[in-house]
Amino acid sequence: MNFSAKNVFAFLNYKFKASIIKSVINLCKRVLGKANKKIAKRSKKKASTSGPSVLTRDQHNVSRKKMSNNALKVLYRLNSGGYDAYLVGGGVRDLLLGLAPKDFDIATNATPEQIKDLFRNCRIIGRRFRLAHIVFGREIIEVATFRGHHENATKKEQDCQKTSKQSEDGMLLRDNIYGSIEEDAERRDFTINALYYSAKDFKIHDFANGIADINAKKIRLIGDPETRYREDPVRMLRAIRFATKLDMSISKETEAPITELAPLMANIPPARMFEEFLKLFISGKAQLNFEQLRKYDLFRYFFPATDQMLNDGSHPHIERFIVQSLKNTDSRINNEQRVTPAFLFAAMLWYPLQGHVERLRDAQPQLSPQDLFFAALSEIMSEQQRSIAIPKRFQAVMKDIWILQDKLGRREGKRAYKVLEHQKFRAGYDFLLLRAEIESTPENPILQELSKWWTDFQFTDNNTQELMVKSIVPSRSSSRRTPRKRRKIRDGSPSDQT
Ligand code: ATP
Ligand code: MG
Repeated sequence: MNFSAKNVFAFLNYKFKASIIKSVINLCKRVLGKANKKIAKRSKKKASTSGPSVLTRDQHNVSRKKMSNNALKVLYRLNSGGYDAYLVGGGVRDLLLGLAPKDFDIATNATPEQIKDLFRNCRIIGRRFRLAHIVFGREIIEVATFRGHHENATKKEQDCQKTSKQSEDGMLLRDNIYGSIEEDAERRDFTINALYYSAKDFKIHDFANGIADINAKKIRLIGDPETRYREDPVRMLRAIRFATKLDMSISKETEAPITELAPLMANIPPARMFEEFLKLFISGKAQLNFEQLRKYDLFRYFFPATDQMLNDGSHPHIERFIVQSLKNTDSRINNEQRVTPAFLFAAMLWYPLQGHVERLRDAQPQLSPQDLFFAALSEIMSEQQRSIAIPKRFQAVMKDIWILQDKLGRREGKRAYKVLEHQKFRAGYDFLLLRAEIESTPENPILQELSKWWTDFQFTDNNTQELMVKSIVPSRSSSRRTPRKRRKIRDGSPSDQT
């Protein structure tokens, strides 16, 4: 061996370097170890769900036969792509309850981009909550990546507004932090919605005692109710909706903060309120949901003007009118008949609209009934749009329904035939029936007579129709009009029979 000074120096240099590298590695290990322990401790402290209890196939009644084939295809494809994938939410909950799920939602550890790589028919949607939609014709299977806790997110993730964003009120403006299945379960709203079904082994993983709550018929938020409502106030609506839909009751702790936190609803964007309106009112449980929303003072965030009229008792018919319109909607849905949300919007705002007409008439008596109507329409719609973004196509139908209330009152000459041909005749006529049912009295049977006339007119033969038209005594308001003015009244205004 050559022990020259040069070699000894090189050897010592090597030893020194190695020991430095070793110390750095040890230091890193210590730091990382501590950090991991810290994270583990933090998530343990946060956890409100314990490890899942698992139901094997013979312990539950959820069968693949009752699932959408497309949802199963998505589960299988994700699994064979090497990812975990579970049916979650209403799909599991409703099947356990023996109900037909409205849709099938899937949760996975694949990121939206990884999902997109697996499915040609996939589109990524949402900013607040990024999701993958797998499109099978009219059926869409929603696939969400497991969500994690925001406080467990890295600094970089928290700083990136694309992933995580929270308002001063604690509302989650972005929820794109990904995590484990355990964290995902904690981020779900209610215990009964945190059930995960695997198509690999047919087991159900119950992370939050959801099965016990299904059996006890309890709607219970996961975690601290106030924090969860602050993160997303729509959960208050969801609590009500699931309670009425599933014939369950809201647990005491979940119910307690609702009325006090109801004002948080004012922060929900009108477009989301429209979606929630549909879920609550075009559901077959509209009447019950209306009563519950009123009970918790949440209805005002959908229809402020209507709510105020209901509260101040300024109109004798409004409550019965709304309840009857909701009952009719429910029974149509439960009989699988078509309904349009526009009819309900028209019903909700009918008396507030009359209120606007009256106020404008007092302020500007020189305005014609038509001008009054259109001015009131524009006022009420711009006021209402601040709460619910009603799509234009429904606004147009609402307007037609209201205008038809006037047209249905004017039947002389060719008018009745024209009204019968109106595209929205059926909706306008149904609305008239509703008004007649609520407003007619033995002393004031006008609407009752009018609706009976239209019921007969539309189903009778031509000769009788002719006789019916001839027998009409022209109403004072229409006979008073000059021909010029009449031509101008293309769209008319609601009749003054209200
Ligand atoms: P349904 O489809 O019958 O209305 P659902 O429970 O499936 O009921 P979805 O709106 O389809 O409700 O949502 C699917 C699942 O996503 C829910 O079961 C729940 O686990 C979760 N989820 C939905 N909205 C929220 C929310 N605002 N906060 C927390 N979790 C939510
Ligand atoms: Mg669903």
